[in-house]
Amino acid sequence: MKRLVKLGCLAGAFCLLFCACASKPEAEVNRSDFVLGTVCSISITSGGTEKILDEAFARLREIENRMSANKEGTEIAAINEASGKKPVTVTPDTFYVISKALEYAQKTNGAFDPTVEPLVKLWNIGSEDAKVPPLSKIKSALALIDYKKVQMDPDKLTVYLPVPGMRLDLGAIAKGYAADEIEKIMVANKVKSAIIDLGGNVFVYGKKKDGTPWRVGIQNPYSDRGEYIGLVTGGQMTVVTSGVYERYFIENGKRYHHILDTKTGFPVDNGLISVSIVTESSIDADALSTSVFALGLDKGMKLVESLKDVYAIFIDSNNKVYLSPGTNKIFTLTDNKFSLSDYK
Ligand code: ADP
Ligand code: MG
Repeated sequence: MKRLVKLGCLAGAFCLLFCACASKPEAEVNRSDFVLGTVCSISITSGGTEKILDEAFARLREIENRMSANKEGTEIAAINEASGKKPVTVTPDTFYVISKALEYAQKTNGAFDPTVEPLVKLWNIGSEDAKVPPLSKIKSALALIDYKKVQMDPDKLTVYLPVPGMRLDLGAIAKGYAADEIEKIMVANKVKSAIIDLGGNVFVYGKKKDGTPWRVGIQNPYSDRGEYIGLVTGGQMTVVTSGVYERYFIENGKRYHHILDTKTGFPVDNGLISVSIVTESSIDADALSTSVFALGLDKGMKLVESLKDVYAIFIDSNNKVYLSPGTNKIFTLTDNKFSLSDYK
């Protein structure tokens, strides 16, 4: 029996190899794996090979190994360990993502702040033993958060956190960067169409085989992955959502989610339950979904309005859906438990 299974596997592997080598332009390949702290799926729906998927997943792992704050030996870990001591040289990859994160920190006046790590670590949302931390500890963590203090040297590619205990966390932006990097691999390999889904950070690439536009679902914030409140229709685009449902725990009937208010030290509590951003670049969409969520409906809407080719879908706790200008042309609400509201 074991032997049969083995033979079967070998035959399967051979077939895969064979198919990969003799790839047709229409070839369809899929793969899912746990990388960047989430399930990442890449589905090349036209023009794919296993080799392209190998390259794509190797790149995702490389990004994780450079930018994760929760893994030993990453560049972010090195910067964090050297806080208050010395600058650390990083790869252009990491330097770019930190610079982008700081750009959004500036745009949001610190509502989005990559130095939020001590607070993220303290709340530990997503782990099994997460609970509301003592106020004193929240205060000490808050005292370490200040993006303005991060020192970047573009000539030497160094990053320095000048206060001991300061730490970076790129969890709100790294997946977006990763999706853009996978897009580059698709372009380089002349892939015709692909769906890149990095834990809900979606990038639909190229043109669909049947010529119809892409349709990307906007997750229903109350149900499991896979249920949608509406659809975004269009050509190549990225759709990224930040919401209260991604990671959370419940204590005494109250829900504590993973986007933290850098002023109060508690999870952002502004009546929004999710914000989806639709645009061309995934690093911007990822940073913006978190930024706009943290800013709230009014300030968040203003930020989106100030940017070109960026569309936003806000959902609040009353099931009201607000769209930024122009978004009504690409978004259709399909779940009648939610209703579109005018934003004034
Ligand atoms: P997800 O990655 O779960 O899809 P987000 O992109 O919105 O969701 O990122 C949330 C993550 O960003 C948190 O898990 C945490 O690591 C980090 N984070 C939390 N609060 C902030 C904040 N105010 N600014 C920047 N990053 C944050
Ligand atoms: Mg984000």
